[in-house]
Amino acid sequence: MFVKVLVELSAFNIDKTFTYHVPFDMQKDIKVGIRVLVPFNSQELEGFLLEILDYTSIDAKDIIKIIDTEPILTKELLLLGRKISDETLSTLISSYQVMLPRALKARNKNHINIKYQQIVEIDNLNIILTSKQQEIIDKINEKGRCLYSELKKINSSVDTLLKKGILVKKNVEEYRLNIKNNKIYPRHELNEDQKMVFEEVKNNLNHNVNYLLHGITGSGKTEVYMELMEEVIKLGKSCLLLVPEITLTNQIAERVMSRFNKVAILHSALSDGEKYDEYRKIKRGEVDVVIGARSAVFAPLSNIGIIIIDECHTTSYYQDNMPRYDAIDVAKERCLYHSCPLVLGSATPTIDMYARASKNIYKLLTLSKRAGLSIPPKVTICDMTKEKKVHNTFLSGTLVNKIRERLDRHEQVILLQNRRGYSSTIMCTNCGYTMKCPNCDITLTYHKNKDIMRCHYCGYAKRKIDVCPHCSCKDIKELGLGTEKVEEDLQNIFSKVRIVRMDYDTTSKRGSHEKILSSFANYEYDILLGTQMIAKGLDFDKVTLVGVISCDNSLFMPTYRSSEDTYNLLNQVSGRSGRRNIQGEVVIQTYNPDHYAITLSCNNDYKSFYQREMMERKKGEYPPYYYLTEVIFKSSDYDFLSREVNKIKNILSYKLSDKKIIGPMMLYPFKVNNVNRFGIIIKYKKELDLKKVLKDLIDHIKLIIKLK
Ligand code: ADP
Ligand code: ZN
Repeated sequence: MFVKVLVELSAFNIDKTFTYHVPFDMQKDIKVGIRVLVPFNSQELEGFLLEILDYTSIDAKDIIKIIDTEPILTKELLLLGRKISDETLSTLISSYQVMLPRALKARNKNHINIKYQQIVEIDNLNIILTSKQQEIIDKINEKGRCLYSELKKINSSVDTLLKKGILVKKNVEEYRLNIKNNKIYPRHELNEDQKMVFEEVKNNLNHNVNYLLHGITGSGKTEVYMELMEEVIKLGKSCLLLVPEITLTNQIAERVMSRFNKVAILHSALSDGEKYDEYRKIKRGEVDVVIGARSAVFAPLSNIGIIIIDECHTTSYYQDNMPRYDAIDVAKERCLYHSCPLVLGSATPTIDMYARASKNIYKLLTLSKRAGLSIPPKVTICDMTKEKKVHNTFLSGTLVNKIRERLDRHEQVILLQNRRGYSSTIMCTNCGYTMKCPNCDITLTYHKNKDIMRCHYCGYAKRKIDVCPHCSCKDIKELGLGTEKVEEDLQNIFSKVRIVRMDYDTTSKRGSHEKILSSFANYEYDILLGTQMIAKGLDFDKVTLVGVISCDNSLFMPTYRSSEDTYNLLNQVSGRSGRRNIQGEVVIQTYNPDHYAITLSCNNDYKSFYQREMMERKKGEYPPYYYLTEVIFKSSDYDFLSREVNKIKNILSYKLSDKKIIGPMMLYPFKVNNVNRFGIIIKYKKELDLKKVLKDLIDHIKLIIKLK
């Protein structure tokens, strides 16, 4: 028997399958989709068994060992991996590896163990018991089986009973993740609008329909998801709920767990052991609901009845390294395979998604009113060109007064500033010198608490300078505004205010995220100040004011999506305020108070925004009117890169004569970690042969790298 095995040769970034011979005694255990250990040059490698051959091969070596008894890549996942690798031009091996927890990837340095615990059960009760022994037996009768360590704590007669054969000790697998959930979330009867949405999807639970659920924040989308999941479970199938990483740590998981018992959770903050345990639970069919972030889309469920993707507009569903998959596309494939619906939910769908819905590629469902008793917040746009700033800070009088009111009433405030650090940079006032990262083409950000300048791309850090190295001038000024500076300004204005800051710098430790949020929820702080990581999915009873310190940098990001991103950001933020019984307020500080993304977002007028933005996209020849493909070229050798990239442009122009080719242009920042970066953009209306051209291009690049 001969088989094909796919191994990972990371140094080459290429796919390799090799033919091996299966020794006779192993043949009965051979299945497609298992991992095997094979000899490769002088090493031993793990690989996926992809094919059983019906022909012989003369010089094939023997497989050393079979690793799995059951395939870890099912038929569905094997097909899915091929599709992903084909669609995203990624290697097949990377597409399979990304589906598995680290413990199961085909690599040779996995030391993630299954954890066992000792339990005790009654075996043969045939003697008269002492009262101490009876105590142990009662405990076991009450629970069915008990942990040995717990019984030992009650009294030591457990050992006697074990010796006498009354009790037996067994090793069973222990699942490490242990989320305690004591909160109870009330269940609501669905309102009319929710019922319409629910009924529509419920009637199609056995069909592959892709839905776009456009529902404003607080319209009761999550409530609808839960009702739908309950229906799916009644059918004996399982549910997959994807949420952005950041909201997972918060209450949506709790809400799901308060409703369903058999839930698995997958997100990046879990340890490898915990992930492995959750994975096994799912694989064994022990759960009804999987809730997780992007990569949970590969959860090894065998009978999916629905996939729901909440906040489907966020970029967190797209993986920006190999394999560059979009979890939404993967979900579509899986729903097609399982003949079940896909529900994409958002308060602010992307323009592309909404355009698809208007062409009936997605079936549109709408929830346009708030579900609970809460009233939408009152939004004030604060024109910073007219506002007088308080004490030379970045805070307007309007915002400061409103914060003071909240502090006096013991209510809470959330403030958003989309940049971490203290100031964005420092500049010499005499010669204009700014300090750049030596590895990256970008200015360093000043972090006051450590008094260092840091590169946010590669992590390079340097002490702050007091004297300009260029002109020796000592007048060095801080420019721009980061979260640290805002915190300092607030402390100066409100001397006793309790502020907790949440940004990349304060959340790098595992669990720090949850800690900040729960301490804020427990009212240990008055103000939660953070970057956009606080904008999504937070729901606090006492928050009655949300302030956006500045939304102008988001508005002027150099991407065609900047208006859309700004609309979404402001809409998400303002959805946060006053969700229960008090009307909340939102203050947005901006130097562009008339920009349509800001005004329409504040009015919660998605449709007008969509229409206006579609006009802009048409004018600019951007998606969804045109497809864009960006090819990025990187090398530390500048001369080589710029020479080859220009040659490649000519090849592309020749091969794709009907398409617009823009570039090559330097990306921003051009240099990251001493690697230079160029991009070429291909704009087109119809795809046709682009994939073939790009595949050829990859081969061409491999060749010139080899020849270099
Ligand atoms: P979304 O996911 O759209 O933001 P949620 O499902 O979180 O909305 O609902 C917002 C709030 O309204 C929650 O506090 C929820 O408990 C409540 N809610 C949802 N549906 C109903 C309903 N039918 N009746 C009363 N309250 C509801
Ligand atoms: Zn750098």
